[in-house]
Amino acid sequence: MIIVLLGPGAGKGTQADKLASRLGIPKIATGDVLRSAVRDGTRRGLEAKSYMDRGDLVPDSVILGILQDVMTSPATKKGAILDGAVRTVPQAEGLGVMLAEIGKKIDKVLLFDVDDDELVKRLSTRTVCEGCQTPYMGREPGSDCEKCGGKLVRRKDDEPEAVRNRLAVYRRQTEPVIDWYRDHDVEVLEIDADAPVDKVTARALKALGKMGRGKVEAGSGKREAAGGKRGKDRAKRGSGK
Ligand SMILES: [Zn+2]
Repeated sequence: MIIVLLGPGAGKGTQADKLASRLGIPKIATGDVLRSAVRDGTRRGLEAKSYMDRGDLVPDSVILGILQDVMTSPATKKGAILDGAVRTVPQAEGLGVMLAEIGKKIDKVLLFDVDDDELVKRLSTRTVCEGCQTPYMGREPGSDCEKCGGKLVRRKDDEPEAVRNRLAVYRRQTEPVIDWYRDHDVEVLEIDADAPVDKVTARALKALGKMGRGKVEAGSGKREAAGGKRGKDRAKRGSGK
């Protein structure tokens, strides 16, 4: 089973880990496989490194090559949870083509849906240690790190305005991705992620479990069933036109 995760960041990696262990398939985080390909000096890793050394973004084609290496390895024989592989429509298309080349396809897309205000609130209580980069929740900037005694700071990325900008970019890029998957008959399960970690995992597993029982037709109300908030937001936006 190949599952693609979508969502604006906060907590998605944790959910990927939890789902991976519950479903018995590995989590493949694009950033991780890119770093290890570079470290191992694989052909595609070296190619990626040449871009990174120049300060350029690694092109999608190179990333897809690295993902293809991973997706043809024995570790992913039973499937994988792909985190960070798809943010834009071209990436969704590229991933689909790459998987088709190796005789695989995406089974489901899990969309972790969070309320913008909630996310801003959550991230603004996050601090990280200047020294060892350990993240903390609910600790004031300026307090001491328990691990190394370094000072805790709030990352610029986590300031409310930065978070809102990031969310705006995310929505602009990702909304079309969701439509693209629906148009290509890949089921998108929306998970309300405004809840404690374990509850969100349970919701995701439940949504995935329901899926096995037969094909759900497009527009059958599956969106409501998964408890997604996005549909409502969209309805709001629609009526505001
Ligand atoms: Zn520290």
